[in-house]
Amino acid sequence: MREFFIHKILKLDLDILPIKDWLPTYSKPLLIAGPCSAESEEQMLSTGRLIAQNFPNAIFRAGIWKPRTRPNTFEGIGDIGLEWLKKVKQDTGMLIATEVATSEHVEKCLKAGVDILWIGARTTVNPFSVQDIADVLKGVDIPVFVKNPIYPDAQLWAGALERINNAGIKKIAAIHRGFHSYDNGPFRNSPKWELAIDLKAACPQLPVICDPSHIGGNPELIPYIAQKAMDMDMDGLMIETHINPSVALSDAQQQITPLQLKRSRVRSSNSKIIN
Ligand code: PEP
Ligand code: MN
Repeated sequence: MREFFIHKILKLDLDILPIKDWLPTYSKPLLIAGPCSAESEEQMLSTGRLIAQNFPNAIFRAGIWKPRTRPNTFEGIGDIGLEWLKKVKQDTGMLIATEVATSEHVEKCLKAGVDILWIGARTTVNPFSVQDIADVLKGVDIPVFVKNPIYPDAQLWAGALERINNAGIKKIAAIHRGFHSYDNGPFRNSPKWELAIDLKAACPQLPVICDPSHIGGNPELIPYIAQKAMDMDMDGLMIETHINPSVALSDAQQQITPLQLKRSRVRSSNSKIIN
């Protein structure tokens, strides 16, 4: 019986630094907040300022190049968005993060001084793309977060983390954003919590951050998913936050306002109310 389970166990041996060593403001749970996409300087600054007022240690996120499932939708504002990200950082002091899908994106982010990069779910599925990103990161000292692949394959998620780590990146976290399935229940992406549990069990020192926005696809589900992540002792939350979600150019249906973010209450495992 035991043999049956042993061959299914995920193995992941990463050489990483503890998050508190490279993120001095870290306190569990880490909060990453900001719009799905950068849309205008005004949208970025107004969203960023309100987030920073309540969560000065939050990391500000915004997508610059958007990997959309279908064409003819908003595919990101492009390079100008990097300037707005920098303005949010200058104005609020928050660290800034964005998604990279190609080596060119990485080079542009490094030049602009983006603090943290993340690899999105549609990129994690492709080892060639992840390797290209890893190659351009060789010799660079920057934190990289890796979202789970679109479909539920923990090996692929682990493999992407390994490729980044093999490039010498030691500041790494995983982001659990749920998985595509034809039977998602009430969720936009099925949480399949067991994959995040397996990843953490395989590599306990790896911070795992939950993304309730992309799991839920709906503001009403965010508190439930975020609380469940905290009950499971996850290390942080990434929550899409937009000054006016109803007019957002991507993921309008799931973003919340900075005020809603402030009013949400999640109790973390150390009994601290975090937001
Ligand atoms: C996002 O964070 O806006 C995004 C595109 O996420 P994912 O890669 O999880 O779909
Ligand atoms: Mn999004």
